[in-house]
Amino acid sequence: MARYTAARCRLCRREGMKLFLKGERCYTDACAFERRSYPPGQHGPVQLRVKLSDYGIRLREKQKVKRIYGVSEKQMRKYYDMAVNMPGQAGHNLLQLLERRLDNVVYRLGFAQSRAQARQMVNHGFFLVNGRTVDIPSFLVKPGDVIELKVKYRSNPQIQENLEVRVQRGLPTWLEIEVENFRGRVKSLPTREDITIPIHESYIIEFYSR
Ligand code: SF4
Repeated sequence: MARYTAARCRLCRREGMKLFLKGERCYTDACAFERRSYPPGQHGPVQLRVKLSDYGIRLREKQKVKRIYGVSEKQMRKYYDMAVNMPGQAGHNLLQLLERRLDNVVYRLGFAQSRAQARQMVNHGFFLVNGRTVDIPSFLVKPGDVIELKVKYRSNPQIQENLEVRVQRGLPTWLEIEVENFRGRVKSLPTREDITIPIHESYIIEFYSR
């Protein structure tokens, strides 16, 4: 599947906000957005003054969310189709589906510094879900699921360090973790209030339903 692999900081500058794509670097002075908070490219500073059309606003919101969660256009479209066919508000459903991805949950639990790192760990089979290996980053967790790091990876210094600094990010109320057992559990489905990233999800629904 095609995945964006070029400089991630350009994506934050393009979207006009920190998307936290690079792990701990995002929390330091080395963050590129802290130094240049205008779009990349020769005309970047000029673009700050350009007013976006209604379509442009909705497109940017959709691109922002795609980039935060690291999903492809095809996957976003699939989540949109699922969201509008679920009971409740389509925008909330869309965000809930993205949050329930296993790579996002591994990141939220603190095993990884970023969703990109979490995706790599899941791809390489680092985790068990309810006692069985799951190596599909898009796997959707549900309440009661237990996500556990395999024993052979528990001495990995990078993961231990990640778990230590996770405290800075906090843990969403819909998840719980037993750090000493390298295990997390899904307590409930994430609600809209649990997703604190500034997102106008209704714009994304309007973008796809136009
Ligand atoms: Fe974005 Fe800053 Fe992290 Fe780069 S370091 S990905 S600009 S938040």
